[in-house]
Parts: sequence; C-alpha cells; structure tokens
Amino acid sequence: MKNLSILVVITWLATVGTQADNATNKVVKPYPIDHCILCGMLVKGRANAYTFVYQGQEIRLCSKSERQEFERTPAKYLKKIADAEAKLKK
Ligand SMILES: [Zn+2]
Repeated sequence: MKNLSILVVITWLATVGTQADNATNKVVKPYPIDHCILCGMLVKGRANAYTFVYQGQEIRLCSKSERQEFERTPAKYLKKIADAEAKLKK
C-alpha cells in the first residue's frame, strides 16, 4: 500500500509539473513553412534541423550555425516567415 501511495504522489507531481510548464510557456507560433528561411533548404521532417523560439515564433533552420545570421537581422527573417505564412493561407 505504501508503495502505491508513493507512486500516486510521483504521478501527481509529474502531472502538476507538466501543467505548470504549460502555464508558464508562452504560446509559440509554429514554423509555418517547409524550408529554411535563410537558405531555402528543406527542413521539414529533418531530424538534424535546428529549431529555436524567437519572440514567440518558432524558427527552423538547417543548422545551428545559421542562427547567428538570423540574429543579425531577425526582423527581416520574421517578415519573410510572416509573408510566407500569409501566402500559404491564401
Ligand atoms: Zn539554411
């Protein structure tokens, strides 16, 4: 019985932990296109693609080294993503 209560507590803690994370995480807009916004290479479904979140927007690049280039002019690439997304919705 004792083991069961411990298991219940652990499960409960895990659940509460997950909910807290969800509550603190801001809503992230998913990367809307299949290609790297920097070089145009296909990144969708690529396990080695580099994904990060910039100001609530998920960004997927083909490699981590490209993040430096992204952060030099992020507004330019965010606009490209927004434009591409708008095009997709048409
Ligand atoms: Zn790229």
